[in-house]
Amino acid sequence: VMASMAHLQEEKLQLQEELLRLQEKLAAQENDELSRSLQLQGQVETLKAKLLEQAQEISRLRSELGGTDTEKHRDLLAAENERLRQDMKVCEGELRELRRQQQAPCQDCAHLQENAKLQERLSQLQQEAEETRAKLVELNLEVQQKTNRLAEVELRLKDSLAERAQEEERLSRRLRDSQETIASLKSQPQQVKYIIKTVEVESAKAKQALCESQSRNQYLQEQVGMQRQVLKEMEQQLQSSQKTAAQLRAQIMMYEAELERAHGQMLEDMQAMEEEKNHAIEEAFSRAQVEMKAVHENLAGVRTNLLTLQPALRTLTHDYNSLKRQVRDFPLLLQEALRSARAEISQAIEDVHSTNRELLRKYRRELQLRKKCHNELVRLKGNIRVFGRVRPITKEDGEGPEAANAVTFDADDDAVLHLLHKGKQVSFELDKVFPPQASQEEVFQEVQALVTSCIDGYNVCIFAYGQTGAGKTYTMEGTAANPGINQRALQLLFSEVRSKAADWDYAISVSAAEIYNESLRDLLGKEPQEKLEIKLCPDGSGQLYVPGLTEFRVQSVEDINKVFEFGYVNRATESTNLNEHSSRSHALLIVTVRGLDRSTGLRTTGKLNLVDLAGSERVGRSGAEGSRLREAQHINKSLSALGDVIYALRSRQGHVPFRNSKLTYLLQDSLSGDSKTLMMVQVSPAEKNTSETLCSLKFAERVRSVELGPVSRKAELASWPSQEQLEVTEGLGVPFLFLLTPGIASGRGHTSPSLGQLSGRAASIRRKLQTSG
Ligand code: ADP
Ligand code: MG
Repeated sequence: VMASMAHLQEEKLQLQEELLRLQEKLAAQENDELSRSLQLQGQVETLKAKLLEQAQEISRLRSELGGTDTEKHRDLLAAENERLRQDMKVCEGELRELRRQQQAPCQDCAHLQENAKLQERLSQLQQEAEETRAKLVELNLEVQQKTNRLAEVELRLKDSLAERAQEEERLSRRLRDSQETIASLKSQPQQVKYIIKTVEVESAKAKQALCESQSRNQYLQEQVGMQRQVLKEMEQQLQSSQKTAAQLRAQIMMYEAELERAHGQMLEDMQAMEEEKNHAIEEAFSRAQVEMKAVHENLAGVRTNLLTLQPALRTLTHDYNSLKRQVRDFPLLLQEALRSARAEISQAIEDVHSTNRELLRKYRRELQLRKKCHNELVRLKGNIRVFGRVRPITKEDGEGPEAANAVTFDADDDAVLHLLHKGKQVSFELDKVFPPQASQEEVFQEVQALVTSCIDGYNVCIFAYGQTGAGKTYTMEGTAANPGINQRALQLLFSEVRSKAADWDYAISVSAAEIYNESLRDLLGKEPQEKLEIKLCPDGSGQLYVPGLTEFRVQSVEDINKVFEFGYVNRATESTNLNEHSSRSHALLIVTVRGLDRSTGLRTTGKLNLVDLAGSERVGRSGAEGSRLREAQHINKSLSALGDVIYALRSRQGHVPFRNSKLTYLLQDSLSGDSKTLMMVQVSPAEKNTSETLCSLKFAERVRSVELGPVSRKAELASWPSQEQLEVTEGLGVPFLFLLTPGIASGRGHTSPSLGQLSGRAASIRRKLQTSG
């Protein structure tokens, strides 16, 4: 119910959101419209401004056109007239003011004086005006007179012209008459001569009068011509001014027409814009209406939705309220439940505690039992175990048939190995066999139990046995990238010690020594060439110790690396050919772990001896002489002694010949008692090494096959074959002596053999004898 209510609430919220969105949209549209109408108004304004500009332009043009002299003059006169009118108005205004002031009673004599002055000035001005007016009238009169006179002169001119014409006519008539009379008088010579004489006298007078009248006539004619010229010029001026006036008028008309057109255009534009605006507004309005309608519809839908939701909401509210009540009561219930649960839990914890305690007690008991069983198992298995490791074929093995692989393995049994020797397959069974592909890690895993047991106070020896080049050093030291048992063992010890640090204090120290030609040298000492002696502890404990053997306390992997490096450098500086030297000497790394249980005060000491033995290969009896022979004899002796000791130990002989070699003597306390020993027999798989491989594997099998349990007389009688004996019996495959030893067969970790087992083992040995020829 809560969920559905929440859902409904969500839906409601969504709808409200939608409504809000639509309202916002509407508002946005309204805003849009407003802005659009504002825009249109702005446009109208700009058009108006443009119109004004055009009108101004027209008036400017007009003023420019009025630039002709007459118009300018006229305009100037009009302006002057206007100015004068203004002046007059001002003067009249002043006058009125003065009059008003005059009428206003004034006691101030300064004002009165001023008034009087002003009146005086006024009267003066009036007088001046009167005079100017009179002068103007006079001038007008004069102008009138002059015009009258001009008219008179014109009239007189006309009269005189007429007179002259008459006179001319009269004179010409008299001239004709006189000529006629002359002619008649000619006919009457005397009389005529007199008459001629009088006429001649009279004609000179007439001639003079004629000349005078002619010159006067000419002057008048000139005057008339001048007047005519003036008239003509004036007419021309009038005509030109009329022409310009007509032109101006035409231009004005043109401008007016243009103005009219512009105005019309503007009006049209405005009309169009108005229409457009109206149209846009209408459109927007209709759109808004449509949207509004949609919104309304939506709203109506929402409303109906809401209406349908309401009953559901009511039931939900009801449910919610009941739930709320339940929730309110919930803490109490919860507390109650919690209280009871807590009680139950504490009870359960108590139970678990007690069972735990019981279990722990049982576990401890089991642990002790297991340890006992383990020790028993180890005891039964034998404290001495033998592993085999086959190295891979390397480049050093060369190529061809010599480098062919001669070693094969059993897919079902990791303890079995087959060697093809001279065309025959010989099988060997050890405690475990590592094939070439086995990693350092895998090898170490099989070894690590031994290593950790030295923390518990056990002494441990791990030997690498085998011919030179079979991988002893690789297994013990390894490479920097892939370290061997030595480094891994120390790392493991460090981590084990760290994990026990809560209860135990441990100290780990290391020594490194070398046995060469039966002399012991300290590889970590300041004088490595010094020969060390092995001595019995003077405390009468029967323990051995080597006075002067350097012991380094190590706490980390770095410390170990330093120790190894130091030992290596010492070994290298002491020999001309390290490889050869190392193959003819035994290298020992002795790790001592001393522990103190802080609660009980119990002290433990465990020793881990990691030995890289000298090469087990046989040196040809003939040919070897001098130092090489001596070396070979020493190696042979010490390896035989090691075999003897292991044999004696495993067969529990009363006497163990530890003193037969430096190596066994030094390791005496790490080989006897509860000590654990591992022999790692290294072999090469190459065809060319098969005879050495065979020897090594025989050695391994012999060490392994020494039985535990009650010591038999025969076993007691038997002795470990020397290296020479191994070589002698090589042709037989298995030394003859071993055939006499019971329990010689290849069973792994078995106890005292039963009769049945014995016969089975005899058969297997016989089989081996047959295969090896
Ligand atoms: P040894 O010490 O017995 O004389 P080395 O340990 O020096 O023999 O080994 C001889 C060569 O074989 C070395 O180059 C070594 O790296 C190589 N070798 C030995 N065992 C292995 C192995 N398991 N895997 C790879 N290389 C090995
Ligand atoms: Mg080596």
